[in-house]
Amino acid sequence: MTAAASVWEAPLPEALRHAWVHGETRAFSDRVLASVDPSSGETLGVFDDGGPAAVEAAVASARAAFRSGWGRMKGDDRAALLLAWAQRVADEIEQLAWLETLEVGRPVGDAKALIAQAPLLIGHYASLIPGLEDRSDGAVRRPRGVVGAITPWNFPTANVVLRAAPILAAGNTLVLKPSELSPRSAVLLARLASEAGLPAGVFNVIPGAGRSTGAALVAHPEVDMVAFTGSTETGKAIIRASVEQALKPLTMECGGKSPQLVLPDMIGEEQIWSGVFAAAFWNTGQWCAARTRLLLPRGGTEAAIEGLRGAAAGWTVGDPRDPATGLGPVASRRQYETVQAFRELARSTGEVIALPCAFGELNPAGFYVRPELALEPPQDGALVQQEVFGPLLTIQEYADLDEAVRLADGSAYGLGATIWSADREAAEIVAAGLDVGSVSVITTPAARPGLSLGAPFEPRKQSGFGVEGGPLGLAAFTAPQAIAYAD
Ligand code: NAD
Repeated sequence: MTAAASVWEAPLPEALRHAWVHGETRAFSDRVLASVDPSSGETLGVFDDGGPAAVEAAVASARAAFRSGWGRMKGDDRAALLLAWAQRVADEIEQLAWLETLEVGRPVGDAKALIAQAPLLIGHYASLIPGLEDRSDGAVRRPRGVVGAITPWNFPTANVVLRAAPILAAGNTLVLKPSELSPRSAVLLARLASEAGLPAGVFNVIPGAGRSTGAALVAHPEVDMVAFTGSTETGKAIIRASVEQALKPLTMECGGKSPQLVLPDMIGEEQIWSGVFAAAFWNTGQWCAARTRLLLPRGGTEAAIEGLRGAAAGWTVGDPRDPATGLGPVASRRQYETVQAFRELARSTGEVIALPCAFGELNPAGFYVRPELALEPPQDGALVQQEVFGPLLTIQEYADLDEAVRLADGSAYGLGATIWSADREAAEIVAAGLDVGSVSVITTPAARPGLSLGAPFEPRKQSGFGVEGGPLGLAAFTAPQAIAYAD
């Protein structure tokens, strides 16, 4: 355990169980929800289900903050406040990581490494604010107003910052409802924003259940836009609910079932397998763009099994509080049961290979799942078509590149893809055949994709819509207002 052992043993901070509205802690109802430690199955504490009263107060606060000038503030001043927030986030990486580890079982080292990127992301959007002042096409970029954001739990800090940074940078005010599994890091992020000097009401967080607090937020007539991140099923429900009272602009960042294609020139390269493993199993497979469908040239399965067995040996499944842990438990009992159902389906319909990861000392009541491979499942079956959100990688073989593209693109989802090949021309042809938002092409066997902040992308098909990243990702939270002068 680290020097921060005392932090891990402390109870979850009581103040973070309540909403953060208008720059202060607020409690709106007596209803509570429980937080369960995924590494033990034990209840860690409770937090508020704010419900309609929290939504009402937070939306009123966000409206007041919008009217009093956050959107009209000079771009430099807004950028400076966002950079101050980024600094506060950088100061609190340890605490944010601790909350992620306890609430959703994120391995602490991994959590810290990803949270360290959050200040860069805020800085990225802050640096794009001057671009909003460009009127060369005759239009002014206006903020939308009060944006309601709903986020999932898989990367608690990143999910919140990915939404909040462009929404706030574009001059909107925000009411965010985090996942029931990870409310506290979201509340802390909003508190840090207030500490950094963001005016009261600019960034509000209301913990609560999706069907109460989330649904009330989407339906509220004073919410001008909704930014959703989560499953496709919930996304569809939100689209339907959003039209009840108004025509609200939406962004939908939903589920995925992303392929990774090893082209024939790379199948003999041993160094690729650690990257193939990480792309599929990072965060125990709980990543919207996890590359969970592996497509190989005919006859490649044996090399893949051997390579992935070797790669697995370098990963420890263990207590997420242990810095040596690479893969923690899945985040909830529900998620555990979902993954088990897919594993049983894989066993009943085909061959399954359990990968030999190292194992730490595990609490048997924790939600731990060993990474597995499902060999040659049918293309139209659930293992290939449905998002598992857990450590299960399907393996299929293709006869030629046409078939590779057909299999890779034969999914209702369209989030991402990875192509392993030194042949850029072939990779470009494959990429052009894939209806997905982002493609990583790995041309050197030992190379790994890095964080790309600037390149915009948009999910496709049932993975959603709405651009993320770069000036277009910022513009997604503005509306152009044409101003014509007749002089
Ligand atoms: P989920 O859809 O169950 O919940 C997401 C959020 O929606 C939660 O905050 C939940 O409380 C809320 N919610 C649920 N019902 C609601 C309703 N009726 N009205 C309003 N809000 C409601 O998803 P999850 O289990 O939290 O997260 C996993 C899913 O998120 C996966 O499908 C994953 O692919 C997806 N995801 C997508 C991205 C992306 O950028 N595309 C990123 C991360 C996760």
